[in-house]
Amino acid sequence: MSKERIAIYPGSFDPVTLGHLDIIHRGLEVFDGLVIAVATNVAKKAMFTADERVELIQEAVGGDPRVVVDHFDGLLVEYARDRGAVAVLRGLRAVSDFDFEFQMASMNRSLLPEVQTVFLMAGEEHFYVSSSLVKEVAQLGGDVAHHVPPGVAEALRIRIAERGGAR
Ligand code: ADP
Repeated sequence: MSKERIAIYPGSFDPVTLGHLDIIHRGLEVFDGLVIAVATNVAKKAMFTADERVELIQEAVGGDPRVVVDHFDGLLVEYARDRGAVAVLRGLRAVSDFDFEFQMASMNRSLLPEVQTVFLMAGEEHFYVSSSLVKEVAQLGGDVAHHVPPGVAEALRIRIAERGGAR
């Protein structure tokens, strides 16, 4: 009857966490398909390359046919239009996310009004999980296995060992 409704879920995903995966699973309850779009032009210094981040997500979503993992640079709204997406999906944690997300959604709406931004809330066990905290804890030798998929825990161990081990 109606055409497939696809959303773009953009982010740095450096690396993907169980918080991101929770948002992906919830997003699939709402949309027919998701394009997880790894931003390659982030100002933040990344621990993993864009290709590594894509691979880690692919491994974690386990070949679900409703999910495509890609990377993009440039304007998100142009990417969303090229992909034929009806929405941009973002996750909200605490109030601290709100201001930045609100600014970005407003800007994207002024650039491309027909694409909606949809916010979903992760389960409360993921409220305080962020890629940056996971990296910080792992670098200090802490166990992050409860917050990331197994492949990411392994990739973090390897990357940190390559860089001279946990401090
Ligand atoms: P960005 O650099 O674009 O914020 P992130 O990879 O940090 O990229 O996050 C991508 C999206 O996932 C953002 O909307 C962020 O708020 C959301 N997100 C990240 N971690 C969580 C979490 N634990 N719970 C809910 N949403 C999350």
